[in-house]
Amino acid sequence: MSDCSGGSCSTCSSCGSDDPDRLPPGMLKVYNLNQSTADGVLVWVETEPDGEGVRIADVSLELLSAARRLSDGRVFAVVFGGAEVKPLYPSIFGCGVDSLYHVREKALETYMPEDYASCIVSLIKRIEPATVLMGATLRGRELAPRIASELGTGLTADCTGLRADGRKLIMTRPAFGGNIIADIECLRFPQMATVRQGTFPKPEMREGSGTAIYWQFKEVVGKDIVSVERAEESGEDIRDARVLISLGDGIRDRALVDVAESVARKVGGMVSCSRSLVERGWMPRSRQVGMSGRTVVPDLYIAFGISGAVQHRVGMSAAGKVIAVNSDPDAPIHHYADLSLIADAGDILREMDRAL
Ligand SMILES: Cc1cc2nc3c(=O)[nH]c(=O)nc-3n(C[C@H](O)[C@H](O)[C@H](O)COP(=O)(O)OP(=O)(O)OC[C@H]3O[C@@H](n4cnc5c(N)ncnc54)[C@H](O)[C@@H]3O)c2cc1C
Repeated sequence: MSDCSGGSCSTCSSCGSDDPDRLPPGMLKVYNLNQSTADGVLVWVETEPDGEGVRIADVSLELLSAARRLSDGRVFAVVFGGAEVKPLYPSIFGCGVDSLYHVREKALETYMPEDYASCIVSLIKRIEPATVLMGATLRGRELAPRIASELGTGLTADCTGLRADGRKLIMTRPAFGGNIIADIECLRFPQMATVRQGTFPKPEMREGSGTAIYWQFKEVVGKDIVSVERAEESGEDIRDARVLISLGDGIRDRALVDVAESVARKVGGMVSCSRSLVERGWMPRSRQVGMSGRTVVPDLYIAFGISGAVQHRVGMSAAGKVIAVNSDPDAPIHHYADLSLIADAGDILREMDRAL
C-alpha cells in the first residue's frame, strides 16, 4: 500500500482506505501556511450546463491558460462533478494544466458553497499552491472568501489584471468606488484572487494530457435541496458580443430599448446598459456593464445616454472603438470616445434603425 493514494488517484479508486492523511503519490505533507515551499497555481474550473453535459466556463478557460503564463511552477486545477466532467479533461490539459483534481463525490455533484469551499481548502493544504485563482462569477465570489477565511489568507476580489513577479502575484483591481486602479500584493501564501471574465484572452481550444486524480472529500455537511429551477437564459452573453449598443439613464422612453434591440440585431450585436437601466427594471443585470456588472471587450461600443462614470468605464475600457451619443457636450464619456455625437440618443437610435 505504500504507493496508494488512499483512493484519490485515477488509477486506484477502490482501495477503500479511510485514512484521511494518506497522500497521493509524490505529494507533500499537510500544508503549513505561510511557509516557503508554496509553489504553482491552482485554478478552480467552473462548469456550466451544456445540453446533456457540461462545458468549462469561459472565465475558467481564460484563467487556466493565464495560470501557465503566470507561473514557472506546476499548474493545478480542481473540478467538481460526475462522469459528465471526464470529456472536459483534454481541454483542461490543453490549457497547460499538469495535474487535475476531480472531485467526484456524489454528495458534491450539486453546488454547495460551504462544502465546495471546505473541499478546496483540503486540496490547497495538500498541494500548497502559491496562488489560487477563481472566476469572479456568482459562485466564485461566494466560494473564494470562504476559502480565504478558512485558510486565514488574503483575497483580492474582482481583479481586472494579474501579473507575476516570481512566485509573487500582483493583482490589479479598481478600488475606492472605482476612483483608483490599485496594484495589490498578498503578504502570505496562498495568494488568492477572483478575476473578471475578459481579463485574459480566451485560449484556442486544443487537447492535451496530464495527470487526473480523483480527490476524495468525506466531510460533506450537505443540505436538503427541496427543488432546483433553472433560470431562463437566452444563452447570449454581452461578454461575447463584437458590437454593443449600450443604453444609459439618458434613455427616457422604454420603447427605445426595443429600437436598440432591433439595431443590435441588424449589426449582429447585443444590447447592454449602465446600472441605471437595471435599477429601473428595464434591463436584466446580466446586461450591465461596469464594476458591479460585466467587463466587455467588443470591437465597437456605442454608448447612448451614458455619462461615463468611472464605475461604468472600468467595464468597457478595453473596447476597440467607442462611440458616445450624449446631448451634454461636457459629459465625461466624450473624453473616452473615438467619435462623439452631441445629440439626442433617441433620435440617433431611430435613425440608425431606419438606415440599417
Ligand atoms: C460601488 C458602485 C458600483 C457601481 N457599479 C456600476 C456598474 O457596474 N455599471 C454602471 O453603469 N454603473 C455603476 N455604478 C453607478 C455609476 O456610478 C453611475 O451612477 C452610473 O454608471 C450612471 O449611469 P448613466 O451613465 O446611465 O447615468 P447618468 O450618469 O445619469 O448619465 C446619463 C447621461 O445621459 C445624458 N443624456 C440625458 N438625456 C439624453 C438624451 N436625450 N440623449 C443623449 N444623452 C442624454 C446625460 O447628459 C448624462 O450624461 C456603480 C456605483 C457604485 C457606487
